[in-house]
Amino acid sequence: MRVAIIGAGISGLACAYELERHGIYPDIFEERSRSGELFSHVAGLMQLMNRPVPDQLKWLKNEYNLDLKPLAKWYTTTMHSNQVTRVVKSKHFGYFFERGQGELSLETQLFNSIKSPINFNCRANYSELAQEYDYVVVANGSRDVAASLGIWKNIFTTMVRGAIVLGDFNPHELVMWVNTDYALGAYAYLAPFSKNQASLTVIHANASIEEMERHWITFLKRENLTYQVVENYLLSHISGTVYPHQVGNLLLVGIAGGFMESFLGFGSVSSLRSGILAGRALANNIPFSKLVKKLDLEMRHSVRLREILNTMDNQDYDHLVAGMTMPGLKQLIYNTNIPVFQNAGTFFELIRDKVDWSKWSILPPKK
Ligand SMILES: Cc1cc2nc3c(=O)[nH]c(=O)nc-3n(C[C@H](O)[C@H](O)[C@H](O)COP(=O)(O)OP(=O)(O)OC[C@H]3O[C@@H](n4cnc5c(N)ncnc54)[C@H](O)[C@@H]3O)c2cc1C
Repeated sequence: MRVAIIGAGISGLACAYELERHGIYPDIFEERSRSGELFSHVAGLMQLMNRPVPDQLKWLKNEYNLDLKPLAKWYTTTMHSNQVTRVVKSKHFGYFFERGQGELSLETQLFNSIKSPINFNCRANYSELAQEYDYVVVANGSRDVAASLGIWKNIFTTMVRGAIVLGDFNPHELVMWVNTDYALGAYAYLAPFSKNQASLTVIHANASIEEMERHWITFLKRENLTYQVVENYLLSHISGTVYPHQVGNLLLVGIAGGFMESFLGFGSVSSLRSGILAGRALANNIPFSKLVKKLDLEMRHSVRLREILNTMDNQDYDHLVAGMTMPGLKQLIYNTNIPVFQNAGTFFELIRDKVDWSKWSILPPKK
């Protein structure tokens, strides 16, 4: 079987890895001179999003045959909203992974584990390849192919502004800020590479480049962050759903297939899983739609949570952060394997609309 893969990002490389395990060596086309995201950042593998899986590293190994090395385990999350700060400790948060060009990055680990040829500096055309190959896996990190096939639906656009910063960090801690003044419909976070280097990122809905720069400055000032910046980054993300994920001999994976983690995710797990599942579908002659059904549902659920989050204001966030760390609820959310996020939509809607906070919240009622 002849398979072409467009894009040597993590979904394309994961697909190649799975195909090779079955003795199929695809041709990979990458328009850049290297594989992986252009700049380094840190992504969390968040156990909360993949429950009831107890340990995602073991799960990725057992279910997907991926033997990946994280930067560190994630034990502490500090959450800041406008008026509330809470620190949560748990053995179950997950792991931190490097992304980008570094030796430890996910893409480098995948790149080192495959043998298939990668045609670098080669921009591929999906319709030409579809005629030449038995199957083409579209892993180009973009909505363009799905949009031209008429199977892409836009959900929302966000701008991501960040930097690699130097300072004094806990390598096991994620710090997170929710504040609509600079991170409307999203959040900001600091994730560590090591004790003295971290990635600091602000995500904001629908902002222009100039607006995003203002949000970044507001964020740094408001949160009194004076880290030394060694590298800046700015990019936009267009989230959308794709259906179906296969059209003729084209299979769409990663962002190209709508496999984005829209709610508190970092995008790595869904990209890896969709790539592996595409490889598995082709190697075993199983419909791709069947293999990605569960993942697709998870993506839709994550979009729904994000849509609810998008309607929240700063007072809602104060309640959310305080509510998620109340005794009992805190134990349930952070220290079990119960898939609480499958019902989180209702919880967030309660936070937003219906709870009479004056009766039980430690914070003032919503005006
Ligand atoms: C700071 C930051 C925060 C993020 N947060 C999130 C998040 O919360 N949720 C989320 O889902 N994602 C997030 N992401 C994105 C996340 O990293 C992606 O989900 C993931 O990298 C997607 O992998 P992919 O393989 O689909 O695409 P990519 O990693 O983008 O790889 C696509 C590759 O295809 C190549 N390519 C494109 N067109 C062609 C062509 N025509 N021919 C040949 N090659 C081509 C590109 O050069 C690239 O190497 C974030 C990214 C950053 C940088």
